[in-house]
Amino acid sequence: MTQTQPASRHVPEGLPTHLQHFVDGAPRDSVGGATFEVLDPVSNRTYATASAGRAEDVDAAVAAARRAFSEGPWPTTAPRARARVLNRIADLVEAQDARLAELETFDTGLPITQALGQAQRAAENFRFFADLIVGQTDDAYKVPGRQLNYVNRKPVGVAGLITPWNTPFMLESWKLAPALAAGCTVVLKPAEFTPLSASLWAQIFTEAGLPQGVFNLVNGIGEEAGAALVAHPGTRLISFTGETTTGREIFRAAAPHLKGLSMELGGKSPVVIFDDADLDAALDSSVFGVFSLNGERCTAGSRILVQRSVYDEFVERYAERARNVVVGDPHDPRTEVGALVHPEHHERVLRYVEIGKTEGRLVAGGGRPEHLPEGNYVAPTVFADVPPTARIFQEEIFGPVAALTPFEDEAEAVALANDVQYGLAGYVWTRDLTRGHRVAQAIEAGMVWLNSHNVRDLRTPFGGVKASGLGHEGGHRSIDFYTEEQAVHVTLGEVHTPRFGAGPAGRNR
Ligand code: NAD
Repeated sequence: MTQTQPASRHVPEGLPTHLQHFVDGAPRDSVGGATFEVLDPVSNRTYATASAGRAEDVDAAVAAARRAFSEGPWPTTAPRARARVLNRIADLVEAQDARLAELETFDTGLPITQALGQAQRAAENFRFFADLIVGQTDDAYKVPGRQLNYVNRKPVGVAGLITPWNTPFMLESWKLAPALAAGCTVVLKPAEFTPLSASLWAQIFTEAGLPQGVFNLVNGIGEEAGAALVAHPGTRLISFTGETTTGREIFRAAAPHLKGLSMELGGKSPVVIFDDADLDAALDSSVFGVFSLNGERCTAGSRILVQRSVYDEFVERYAERARNVVVGDPHDPRTEVGALVHPEHHERVLRYVEIGKTEGRLVAGGGRPEHLPEGNYVAPTVFADVPPTARIFQEEIFGPVAALTPFEDEAEAVALANDVQYGLAGYVWTRDLTRGHRVAQAIEAGMVWLNSHNVRDLRTPFGGVKASGLGHEGGHRSIDFYTEEQAVHVTLGEVHTPRFGAGPAGRNR
């Protein structure tokens, strides 16, 4: 493993020491004054407190969002005018991308170059949905001369947005941009491990001209603030990204209210590499796929299935690359893997590494890197010969840990790929395109990349199947989620209604 040594812990200038909620256009503390501590993952020292929202804080935020929805002007603002605000938001995000990346890296431990890419992606999300809402068309169904039926699209109301700690700012933008584009008002509940970058939205939105009360933010613990948002009768929709177990909990809590739900959940995605593949490209992609974003990536290709005839050589090359991945100070632009988000998560990943040692053959990494005695570091870890029954094959680790497993033929590859509860992403590498499409289509996953690295066109559906999610976002699907399609039926010409109560004489008039 290549090393970068932090000369000293990098602390961004002007770092806030207290993070508040943002309700009805103003920052505020919790009604009860509760706070929680926020750590940075390099020193695990508390650098700030954040207001810990409870039901009464969520009440206030939802009330503000409801007012902004019912009194306007946002839900009835013309799409072009909404798009202008969204584009200004994108400009403001872009203008401070370096600062955003610095704060995100400090709070999450993500390598700075990758955090910068995520900040730019956040701006792109706003631009994309600005364009989409202006170009939005709705269906009309005509029965010539007799009837016109058309779709009147309306924003649903107050959307509750609950987000995880991996790439927090970008994932928040992924929900905020379509919700606002659609004309909804929102209450965002960011992850408690990483509330720092979310605190920048309030100023960005205010400066961009988003009306007061349209955006509200409540910080807090999931079981308190998050649960209160889900249980609140005033939130018509919940868009959630996080763990599958939390998703199940939210599903149960939302049921009595019959809320609209969008669930982006966990993954354990397969990479299937056939012996005829461009093995150099497959190696680059499969190494990046699990070690980028510290392995804290929902679409990580964490199970690498390799055809037996090239397996041994591939394992050797893979392990060598993993050993050479640069682990260290997240603020150093040379760093490829930084510090995991939180000591609890760090411990969890290290536990999986220990489990892996009893289930597979350790060929790289295997614990904390020697040169980094403090902070939440894990050496990029690779296990070979991992059987499908292994926990490290079945369970989402969400860290820099890869499991490699050989397969004989296409049928076995597909069976192994599908032998988990998850179905978020899949990756296939082969030069035989007929087989490539066949396998891509046989993989039970919401998204598959064929001979391709994980790059998404924002128009395409995003989401998982099986335990990886419910519903798809992306492109017009996101707008569909945040809007209601009301059908309006109009009779043209004479209305032919059976004349109940008109008696025999009047019936046939
Ligand atoms: P998490 O489920 O622990 O938390 C996610 C959010 O839910 C947080 O804001 C948390 O406070 C909140 N929450 C927790 N309990 C809640 C409850 N009972 N009611 C309401 N809200 C509650 O997930 P995490 O650990 O922050 O994130 C990692 C997980 O997210 C991984 O499983 C990863 O695969 C998944 N993820 C999925 C996608 C995707 O698009 N499919 C994208 C990113 C991350």
